[in-house]
Amino acid sequence: MSSEKQLSLFDWSNNNDSSESTSDSDSDSSLIPTNAKIPIPLGTYQTMEQIAVHCNQCHRCELGENRTNAVIGRGNPQAEIMIIGEAPGQNEDEQGLPFVGRSGQLLDKILQSVELSSDRHVYISNAIRCRPPENRTPTLKEIEACKPYLLEQIRLVNPKIILLTGATAVKALTGDKRGITKIRGQWMEWEGRLCMPIFHPAYLLRNPSREPGKPKWLMWQDIQAVKQKLEELQSDSNYIDF
Ligand code: URA
Repeated sequence: MSSEKQLSLFDWSNNNDSSESTSDSDSDSSLIPTNAKIPIPLGTYQTMEQIAVHCNQCHRCELGENRTNAVIGRGNPQAEIMIIGEAPGQNEDEQGLPFVGRSGQLLDKILQSVELSSDRHVYISNAIRCRPPENRTPTLKEIEACKPYLLEQIRLVNPKIILLTGATAVKALTGDKRGITKIRGQWMEWEGRLCMPIFHPAYLLRNPSREPGKPKWLMWQDIQAVKQKLEELQSDSNYIDF
């Protein structure tokens, strides 16, 4: 099936059901992937699959030219925790899934250490959806071109907690340019949501010591704080005031 035909299955322009949708009848949503100047209003997408269709034909930045697969997300799209990384690498580009290489295996282990499963309890995505050449850091232009897709994913998942792995993810979402060693483990608020910057798993792979005060030990403190916060939030929302 041609991609135009696939896209037409979603038939956004005729979908008036969503009270959240802000796109007006003049805007042609099929043009979204072609030009970064075309806005993507919050409420444009109803599902991750719709986002995936657009991202796989997207040329809002030049990374679209070399991708094998756009990398949208993995895990539970209704999870209470969303993890945002930097950018897909080679494994992710080949499989179309985030954090499936060595960093991803370590991330899964970190989550398991506090009995969180990457299938059930978290949804994982990245600041950008296409792999930069040679795995270089994404440029601001690439981040900005891709950001509306990320914002739509956050809106759809509606997580209680967002974990930002590494300085690029922090800067991409919040604009905070501080170094990760300064801000990791600190709760911050972004658009009314609780966020915590944490080390990127790739940094932990390069710094394997578990001694107190070292990055792996600090990550252990941070992930325990995340688990504790999640339990607090869950018990707050279970509270019924008779
Ligand atoms: N590193 C990231 O930041 N994201 C991935 O998906 C893989 C590695």
